[in-house]
Amino acid sequence: MSQAPTSYLADLDDRWRPIDPDGPPCHYTFRGKVCEKSGAHYCEPRADRVVTFFRELLVHIKGPLKRTAFILLDWQEFEIVRPLFGEVQWTSEWNCYARRYRIAYIVVARKNGKSELAAGIQLYLLVGDDEDSAEIYCAAKDTKQAGKVFEPALRMTQLSPVLNKRLKHIKNARRLVDEKMGSHYEVLTADALGELGHNPHGFNLDEVLSQPDGSLWEAMTTAAGARLQELMFATTTETDDDSSFGASLINEAERIQEDPTRAPHAFSFVRKLPITDDQLEQLREAFEGHPHLPVSCDPFDEANWKWPNPALDQFKSRDSMRRQALEAKNEPDKENGFRQFQANQRVAQTHRWMPMNLYDRNVDDDLWLNPDYGRKQLIGRPAWGGLDLAAKSDLCAWCLLIPDGDRLHALWRFWLPEDALPGLDKLSEGKFSRWAREGWLTVTEGNVVDYEKIYDDLEQDAKDFTIQASDADQWSFAPVLQAVEKRIGVWEIDAYSNTYQRMTPGMTELMALAKNLQFRHHGNPVARYCFDAVEVRKSAMNPNLIRPDKPDRDKPGKRIDAVPTAAMACSAWKRAPLPETKSTRRKVVVSNR
Ligand SMILES: [Zn+2]
Repeated sequence: MSQAPTSYLADLDDRWRPIDPDGPPCHYTFRGKVCEKSGAHYCEPRADRVVTFFRELLVHIKGPLKRTAFILLDWQEFEIVRPLFGEVQWTSEWNCYARRYRIAYIVVARKNGKSELAAGIQLYLLVGDDEDSAEIYCAAKDTKQAGKVFEPALRMTQLSPVLNKRLKHIKNARRLVDEKMGSHYEVLTADALGELGHNPHGFNLDEVLSQPDGSLWEAMTTAAGARLQELMFATTTETDDDSSFGASLINEAERIQEDPTRAPHAFSFVRKLPITDDQLEQLREAFEGHPHLPVSCDPFDEANWKWPNPALDQFKSRDSMRRQALEAKNEPDKENGFRQFQANQRVAQTHRWMPMNLYDRNVDDDLWLNPDYGRKQLIGRPAWGGLDLAAKSDLCAWCLLIPDGDRLHALWRFWLPEDALPGLDKLSEGKFSRWAREGWLTVTEGNVVDYEKIYDDLEQDAKDFTIQASDADQWSFAPVLQAVEKRIGVWEIDAYSNTYQRMTPGMTELMALAKNLQFRHHGNPVARYCFDAVEVRKSAMNPNLIRPDKPDRDKPGKRIDAVPTAAMACSAWKRAPLPETKSTRRKVVVSNR
């Protein structure tokens, strides 16, 4: 079997996997190769078997390679198929090794062979995966689209001498049947959801954007679980609709690619051209050494095309991409289409901001078990505040930043009127109630937040720390701000609204602190929830000008208040730093922590 062709394809054994020593030596054997590993591992013979299935049984269905053996391209083989099918874990329930990945997300630009690869994988699950009575489904929006969705697997079957003999095509039902194993493959439409009772071994959601919503994906992923090693497979190109099911699925895929521990059972292959310099930098760090990394965020620079288009120069034509780039340059109304479909960029106004693996690295060994855990050591230090009391019937937040050498500690307070608690609990599986019990969140009586409680807490902070300056959301009510100024001893809190101009510096500083591992947030769970949820809105003129996208509070959704308050505190700190001598003196006093 072939070896990884270039060094950038990291050793497949090196891939992140859960520490799971359970299980005897694997001894899985394929064509003479025996796996001697045990515990969670990359099982090379199992991966060989899938690659061989493609090469020996499947053929390409279109383009210049039509009817020739389906030899996976390097990126398909080493970055998708091998890890996806090779990673296994012991299951005590079935007493054997089984695939670790049960969900796979593939997010690349158009015309990179997604449908063909997906069809091959579905056929493998149907006849190659040793699954009796396998039920494999493919999703379509409606019966009209069903034919199109069914086509790749059908063509591949018809062109493959072996599969053509083995599988029976039931025409009117858009169904392929393997009588030997009692298995079948069929197209399912969103409107046919009523007839449930499916027990899927495989499910393929090709082009997620064609789905009206996530109901089919939800139904299938929740129906899964009765099989030894089912696989739910979703492929898509970026969307221009922030609020769509596709957007949330792609966001999740990106989060998992950044931090595989988030969902060890989910496989993610996301190749998007970044939108901001921050994203570009993070990408280059995460995939260091990969030869296809973009050099900038410019969708028209050919040096950036290979990343979102791994099949470029293989079966995606560079000439055709050049023509489309030229058209998009000449006709501005085509630019968004080019960005979305060819560069795989989200054209929408908002995008995710904080990679949670980076955020979590800032905890280091400094995790606080409760909000007061390490507070004592910080008492007496200078601090800068960011305040958002705009939502009197919802979450209110206050962030204090406390410099410590070259690091900054972030301490938050959150307040919530009790009437708002059930709603947030519903969105977070009860987390807000738990955080209230643990002290991370103060719940006050009634349907609006109790300002007296807030004033008291702020006054306590002003006693504990020397608050130098504070910024606040402009919509925090003026009389309230005056009362706050009095309690914390800061005159003239700088209050402003959530504009690019005012929010960019603080947000940029916050990101810089996180990147330099100087942002000591101590794992505050409410803050983490907000940082995970926040999306930023970018200026149409300059995508590096950003502001937090404030979710509509009337609708059930996310809360982000920890983020703007931290950004405002950053901004206050930058705006009103300590005089040099004072800061030096203080550093000496407090360095012993
Ligand atoms: Zn093995």
